[in-house]
Amino acid sequence: MQFADAKERVLSLHQQLQEHNTRYYVLDDPIISDAEYDRLMQELIQLETSFPELQTADSPTQRVGAEPLPFFEKVEHTSRMLSLSNAFNREDLMEFDQRIKKATGLDQITYVCELKIDGLAVSIRYQDGIYSLGATRGDGQIGENITQNVKTIRSLPLKLATPINLEVRGEAYLPKKEFERINKQRADNGEPLFANPRNAAAGSLRQLDPKLAAQRALDLFIYGMDGSSEVYTTHQETFRAIKKLGLKVNPEWKVATSIDEVWEYIEHWQLERSKLGYEIDGIVIKVDDYALRTKLGFTAKSPRWAIAYKFPAEEAISILEDIELRV
Ligand code: NAD
Repeated sequence: MQFADAKERVLSLHQQLQEHNTRYYVLDDPIISDAEYDRLMQELIQLETSFPELQTADSPTQRVGAEPLPFFEKVEHTSRMLSLSNAFNREDLMEFDQRIKKATGLDQITYVCELKIDGLAVSIRYQDGIYSLGATRGDGQIGENITQNVKTIRSLPLKLATPINLEVRGEAYLPKKEFERINKQRADNGEPLFANPRNAAAGSLRQLDPKLAAQRALDLFIYGMDGSSEVYTTHQETFRAIKKLGLKVNPEWKVATSIDEVWEYIEHWQLERSKLGYEIDGIVIKVDDYALRTKLGFTAKSPRWAIAYKFPAEEAISILEDIELRV
């Protein structure tokens, strides 16, 4: 492709992706499937790799989420809440593994594999062991204060086992059964249906009236702790500590010592995902050792020590187009 054509396409992709970001992150009302969005994003990444001078700081490849809605109080995150880079096949995973081995000089890496819960990222703070704040990811630096809505999640302890100051990150989601119940109720009332549990969860948590969130049985899995590398040496240790404090960790996480083992975990969950009580859209693979994570660092948008493997799409775009979406 010639530079001029690439430039034109890049500008068009910026515009399209920005529009879809607003619909997805701000309005909770997407009009294309995640797979279609991922294809547009991959095309932009490829063009920026071929023509590095076309990569700008405001490119959708360099930005996390979207800015917070103005009618929520803003919350500055203690440390950035990032996105994850994506893998779509086994080759992408092998490349990820090779990059890590090259950067660390090691020939064997221990990974932790986790289910990628299809909900929305939240940050939760405790002060002296008492729940004090809940926030959305927003643009990664600044999120929305949704403390009262997060408080309606029954599995969230309002008091920890130990009176410490703590910030954890996790994924809030709507269980499949609850999603079905809500949509049936909406159908009975002649109200427009939610397209999927993710949008229903995001819409519920970003309601100004916490009573509405309380009527929807949202749930939460915690997958990380801010500052954990100052206290623990591995992700496994952090997971055990989070659980001990009384917070809910997804029980299906597994340690893998090679990409073959990671792939086995992926294949297993690709087959078994329908049996889970909640939606997953992939598998997250993270380097276990915190010293290695420090060595690997971050890009503008994501850590270099983790990757999200995305399952192939189950739904067609037309399904989304047929459904009228509402929060
Ligand atoms: P992402 O969904 O690819 O991955 C990062 C997120 O994964 C984290 O922020 C966290 O919320 C979540 N997550 C779930 N389980 C996790 C775990 N165990 N450990 C760590 N994180 C976990 O990235 P993103 O920036 O949140 O969103 C981008 C994706 O959103 C796109 O790839 C696309 O699928 C979707 N999207 C769709 C549209 C659309 O119009 N359909 C628009 C924008 C984004």
